[in-house]
Amino acid sequence: MSDIAQRLQRVRERIQAAERRWERPAGSVQLLAVSKTRPADDIRAALAVGQKRFGESYLQEALDKIEALRGEPVEWHFIGRVQSNKTRAIAGNFHWVHSIDKLKQARRLSRQRPGGMPPLNICLQVKLDAEETKGGFEPDQVAAAVAEIGTLPGLRLRGLMTLPAPADDLESQRRPFRRLRRLLESLNADGAGLDTLSMGMSGDLEAAIAEGATMVRIGTAIFGPRNRPPAGQG
Ligand SMILES: *Cc1c(COP(=O)(O)O)cnc(C)c1O
Repeated sequence: MSDIAQRLQRVRERIQAAERRWERPAGSVQLLAVSKTRPADDIRAALAVGQKRFGESYLQEALDKIEALRGEPVEWHFIGRVQSNKTRAIAGNFHWVHSIDKLKQARRLSRQRPGGMPPLNICLQVKLDAEETKGGFEPDQVAAAVAEIGTLPGLRLRGLMTLPAPADDLESQRRPFRRLRRLLESLNADGAGLDTLSMGMSGDLEAAIAEGATMVRIGTAIFGPRNRPPAGQG
């Protein structure tokens, strides 16, 4: 078995153990393998043992891999910063975008989604702690964004995503995830119909599952320490 297959197996076991510990239904947490900075061969190694969802942050690098793996049953998720001049390529090549943090980008993605493709699945990124520098909607802006995005024909709004600053202990890790879950619950109480909480990474997936994550985004625990990002992208 390849190193990647072994590490993937350990991540699956962590997810299953967390589902049991917090009485989540078996299989209720999906695994997104974050393959940014990794070569296409690493993705092939994970595909060979049944992993189909992959997350990418750097557009040009992602497009090269999408081309190299054309014909493979990959579901591509964009999780990086959505720059306005890149929305057309994102709209034409991905199944999901987790990192929408401006209405303007959502409108562009909807307009640019090719007509023959199903609507693009999206999550709104929400900023839940002061230390976070990665962008995202403020929690009190989310309801208005959800209302407008619900009217965009090229998009299917699935849920919320967050990327909190790393924390060491379980309780501190759980706090922002709990806030994201409560926000989703309040939107759904108003009829939003969202089914996705994209939260949890290699270091805090247990905390995220405890708080209701439906998709965890795991990079280093599957692929090992990351290579440097490609030059000029960030
Ligand atoms: C890189 C990245 C991850 C994966 O982080 P790991 O700590 O390597 O598991 C998850 N989400 C986003 C948005 C990322 O950029």
